[in-house]
Amino acid sequence: MNNKKGIAILGSTGSIGTQALDVIRNHKDKFEIIVLTAENNSDLLIRQAKEFKPDSVVIGNKEKYKEVSEALKDDFIKVFAGKDALNQIVEHSAVEIVLTAMVGYSGLIPTINAIKAKKNIALANKETLVVAGELINKLVHENQVQIIPVDSEHSAIFQCLVGEIDNKIENIYLTASGGPFREKNIEDLINVTALQALNHPIWNMGAKISIDSASMINKGFEAIEAKWLFDLKPEQIEIIVHPQSIIHSIVQFEDGSMKAQMGLPDMRLPIQYAFSYPNRIKSNFNRFSFSDYANLTFEPANSKKFRNLAISFDAMKKGGNVPCIMNAANEIAVDAFLNNKINFLNISDIIEQTIDKVDYKTNLTIEDYIYYNNYARDIANQLINNNLNK
Ligand code: MG
Repeated sequence: MNNKKGIAILGSTGSIGTQALDVIRNHKDKFEIIVLTAENNSDLLIRQAKEFKPDSVVIGNKEKYKEVSEALKDDFIKVFAGKDALNQIVEHSAVEIVLTAMVGYSGLIPTINAIKAKKNIALANKETLVVAGELINKLVHENQVQIIPVDSEHSAIFQCLVGEIDNKIENIYLTASGGPFREKNIEDLINVTALQALNHPIWNMGAKISIDSASMINKGFEAIEAKWLFDLKPEQIEIIVHPQSIIHSIVQFEDGSMKAQMGLPDMRLPIQYAFSYPNRIKSNFNRFSFSDYANLTFEPANSKKFRNLAISFDAMKKGGNVPCIMNAANEIAVDAFLNNKINFLNISDIIEQTIDKVDYKTNLTIEDYIYYNNYARDIANQLINNNLNK
């Protein structure tokens, strides 16, 4: 037996996954990769497997099984493929922490399985809580596991709450960089291109979350994520635009005192903290320099310009299946926007109209979430096709 923490990375070839491996590369004495999974990028998965020697790898796309298993046949690494394998691999007995870094709704079922297998979750897939926060919290409680947020804002709040167990939160301020379109007028947003939306001023991220940041639905998702992680009411959550992205979020307590967590925007910091928690370990990440930042500025978020903010808060208040429908419609709309089928402002139209067309339901089971996710996708696709035929 060794005393390294065993880690599974779901989505190891994406932006969060590769940064997580960078953290582990620098702390091989503390962490050990047990499982790596990727949806499609077999080349990178093979290279990662050869470097980190996990017990098992899973490639989501079954057509790439042969390529991956042949490449790793001399490395004594078990290779699996397909959705069922992705969902089950998290139960591996040597895994202590599962980093959920896959894209969108696909994170839900593996995360549920990991919680049921009593693994702690380093949560990078916020859609899991957006879609099914109520159910996830129930499972977390039943299985006595912990969710440690990786999202930088939620990691900030989590860090601010260390040592504050009995102290109530009055408010949280979720900071937002404002994305690439912060200074644009609403009239300009109709013409922005996918390429412009992908070009985030601060964070270098995958395509889906870059569009979500540009449309600000990412911040709406983060508000819902915060609600479930920290047991908050919608009126306790405020979005503050902070373009420098140095303050990662703020907690205000009942005495009016505010605690903020600060640092250069570098996702490796919250990833490392999720792995090392409750300890902090040394890093060589760049340090903040006061001479580089004469001003830290703040402005209110504009939910008229970014309608997705208003839609998200509304979905949070309604609860039930509405956030699940919103997420599904957004995934379809973002894909359509990336493929130049709809314009940027249509993303909000599609989400709103999809929510309108699906019946409201509360007290959802896993099967209900799966059903409403699929149903909302169908509706969103129909809306996009109708829009095109006009
Ligand atoms: Mg974030």
